[in-house]
Amino acid sequence: MRITALSEHFFQTFCDLFAPFFNLLYNIDKSNARTACPSAEKRKNMKISPIFRQKKAVWSFEIFPPKPTADPSAVQSTIAELSALRPDYISVTCSAGGSGNARTGEIASLVKSFGVEPLAHVTCINSDKPSVRAALSDLRERGVENVLALRGDRLPDREDSKDFAHASDLVGFIRSEGYDFDIAGACYPEGHPESKSLPEDIRNLKYKTDAGVSHLNTQLFFDNEDFYRFRDMLSIAGIDVPVQAGVMPLVKKGHVDRIISLSGAKIPAKISRMISRFYDRPEALMEAGIAYAVDQIVDLLSAGAQGIHLYVMNNPYVAKRITDSVQGILNELNGAQNADRP
Ligand code: FAD
Repeated sequence: MRITALSEHFFQTFCDLFAPFFNLLYNIDKSNARTACPSAEKRKNMKISPIFRQKKAVWSFEIFPPKPTADPSAVQSTIAELSALRPDYISVTCSAGGSGNARTGEIASLVKSFGVEPLAHVTCINSDKPSVRAALSDLRERGVENVLALRGDRLPDREDSKDFAHASDLVGFIRSEGYDFDIAGACYPEGHPESKSLPEDIRNLKYKTDAGVSHLNTQLFFDNEDFYRFRDMLSIAGIDVPVQAGVMPLVKKGHVDRIISLSGAKIPAKISRMISRFYDRPEALMEAGIAYAVDQIVDLLSAGAQGIHLYVMNNPYVAKRITDSVQGILNELNGAQNADRP
C-alpha cells in the first residue's frame, strides 16, 4: 500500500531527529545521508506499480551487490547516499549463475532499511524450480515486494535450465506459485541481441507482459529516437504496461569499454566524439558524461517517458549530480507526490 507523502515526511523527520543515535548504531558517517532507521522495517511494504499511477515520472537507481568477500560498509554508505536522493525505488542486480541471488536479498534488505523500496533482480537460466523457489521465499521473508524477472545471460560453461527457457517462464512460475510480488521485466529498445528483428523481440516481449509483468525497464540506450520508435511499436503490439527508460551515464574509461562492448548499444556520433576527445581526461569525461545523461533525460521527460531508471554503477556522486539537475522538472511533473524530496 502507498504510504502518504505526509506520513513519509513525519517518518523521515523522526529519522533525521534521531540520526546521530542511529548513525552510532549503524556506524554510518555521512552527514548528508538520510539515516537507516530501525523503524523503517516496520513501514508498510510497498509495491512499485501504484507509483506509476501516482506519478508522471518515476525516478529510480540500479546498484549491484558487492563481491562476497567485500566489506559491506562501502555499499551501506552508497545506499545511504542514494536513499538521501529519495528515489522511488532502487533495483539490485543478481548474477546469472544464481550464486549472486543470496547477496541480492541481503542488499535489497539494506535498501529497505533506509526507507526505500527495493526491486530485487532474479535470474533463471541456470536455476531449477526449487532454487528459484528458495530465492523467492527468501526475498519474501525479507519483506521484498518487487522483483525484476530475468532470464539472465547464457554462460558458456553452464547448461541452460531445464525448467526455465525464457523470462516469461519465470514470470508464469512466480504467479503460479502464488507469490504476491509486483513483477517487472526487461526490454530492449534496439532489440535483444539474440532476436532476429525488433518486431520478433516485441512479439516475445508480449508473452512476458501477458504472463503478468506490471512494468518494464529498458536496456541502456544512447539515442532517444530508438526509445520513441520502440514505444510506438509496443503500443501497436498491445503492450500497455509502463516503460521506464534506462539511462547509463558514461563517466569513466572503464564504463566506456565495458558497457559499449557488453550492451551492444548503438553509439551516436555525439557520444563517439565525447569519448575520443575525453577518453584520457577523467575529469572532462566525468563532466561530459553527466551532461550527456542530463540532456538525454530532459528530452525523455519532455517526450513523456513514464520513468527514468538510472544505471548509477554504485556511484552516488553521479546519481546526485544528475538528480539535482532534473529535480525541478521531476517536482513540476509529479507535483505533490514529490513534495518530500529535498
Ligand atoms: P527474455 O525475456 O527471456 O528474452 C531473451 C531472448 O529470448 C530474447 O531474444 C527474446 O526475444 C527471446 N524470447 C523471450 N521469450 C520468448 C519466447 N516465449 N519464445 C521465443 N523466444 C523468446 N542479467 C543478469 O544476469 N543479472 C541482472 O541483474 C540483470 N539485470 C538486467 C536489468 C535490465 C533492466 C536489463 C535490460 C537486463 C538485465 N540483465 C541482467 C541482462 C539480461 O539477463 C540479458 O539481457 C538476457 O540475455 C535476457 O534476459 P531477459 O529477461 O530479457 O530474457
